[in-house]
Amino acid sequence: MKSFMDKDFLLSTETAKHLYHDYAENQPIIDYHCHLDPREIYENRQFENMTQVWLGGDHYKWRLMRSAGVEEQYITGDASDREKFQKWAETLGLAIGNPLYHWSHLELRSYFGYDGILNGDTAEEVWQLGNEKLKTLSARRLVESSGVKALCTTDDPADSLEWHKKIAEDKSFGVQVLPSFRPDKALGIEKADYVNYLSRLGEIRSFAQLAEVLKERLTFFVSLGCRVSDHGLESVPYAPATAAEVEAIFQKRLAGGIPTAEEQKQFKTVLLLELGREYHRLGVVMQLHFGVIRDNSHRVFRALGPDAGIDSIGDAPSVKELAAFLGALDDTNELPKTILYSLNPNDNAALVTAMGAFQTGEAIGKLQHGSAWWFNDHKAGMTEQLTTLAADGYLAGFVGMLTDSRSFLSYARHEYFRRILCDLIGSWVENGEYPNDEKALKTIVEGICVKNAERYFEL
Ligand SMILES: [Zn+2]
Repeated sequence: MKSFMDKDFLLSTETAKHLYHDYAENQPIIDYHCHLDPREIYENRQFENMTQVWLGGDHYKWRLMRSAGVEEQYITGDASDREKFQKWAETLGLAIGNPLYHWSHLELRSYFGYDGILNGDTAEEVWQLGNEKLKTLSARRLVESSGVKALCTTDDPADSLEWHKKIAEDKSFGVQVLPSFRPDKALGIEKADYVNYLSRLGEIRSFAQLAEVLKERLTFFVSLGCRVSDHGLESVPYAPATAAEVEAIFQKRLAGGIPTAEEQKQFKTVLLLELGREYHRLGVVMQLHFGVIRDNSHRVFRALGPDAGIDSIGDAPSVKELAAFLGALDDTNELPKTILYSLNPNDNAALVTAMGAFQTGEAIGKLQHGSAWWFNDHKAGMTEQLTTLAADGYLAGFVGMLTDSRSFLSYARHEYFRRILCDLIGSWVENGEYPNDEKALKTIVEGICVKNAERYFEL
């Protein structure tokens, strides 16, 4: 029997161990999509205790606790932080096969120097040790000690980016913190507060003006180092419309009307196409996240709002319209570098083949299949994503892992990914499916860990 999560955790062959320890383990990290708060980075936030740092906004943990029958009082309610930590430790202790089990123990090892296991019996020991250690840890310390070279936050076009500017001016911090352009609210014409949101962008009286203002904001983002945009969509829409049609839809909304489902789709299609062309012109990567059903429990949503652990994998057919959308941009040679993430793993092969139809010599892997996302961010999901990308695309050009996290401790997920990657590649070599070619293997592993991302995002 192997020991629990030792230095060769998830590395089942000699080749896997060699690839991980010699080419992957010590590579720096480029976290090209996360949800860290730039203000917390600038102010170098410290955390009072383990509950604050671990359970504060982590809806992955919340839903696991609910699944284990823990009452809401101990999750997001008014129980004490120590009581919440106890319930979390008891939940985790039996969470066999769940990635949170691995992530949490990787975090305990990497950041807290704790080699034991966390469960209800050890909760007090971990609480004491962790809280003591937190006195020496801070947002910046956690990012730096993880080997992060650059990270891309997720920001609204209306954001002043004041914290990004302050971080850039602060020469004592060696990590690049770059903004990402995420105009979901500008596209959310069906939302009740849409008109209110528009006022944050200025006095917007027409669709043409909205598109213009968004492009100006994008240029401003790029001036502060933005290399990537991001869109969160239920599915990627494709319903082309004329300028006059979209203008009429926009005016209807300004007058207080709610456009029909088809009109919403037309509005989003035309605005996304405008933005896509601008991304291409400015060399900004376009990320598309879709295939999600958000906020399923209205009861929890009313109490806690979005990102409360009540989302699920969507099954709306998505690839046909996505391919038409990419095709419309490709038609005029204005398709930007694009990363596709569907939350539904059943879409993987279809996505990778759709991507393949639009690849060009503009970049290695101009279209990318994003790393296994959210509910797929586990051993089976990552292995499936890597295998499909290798089989139907070009794994060697893959830009690799991102955290997509709100937590400063999540960099342990890069270690998790790298171990799974090296184990998979190692198994192909051991099985005689790929030669034991040191130079090529080094290029592939180092590329997927960091070098491809450096090149792709032009950092
Ligand atoms: Zn995200």
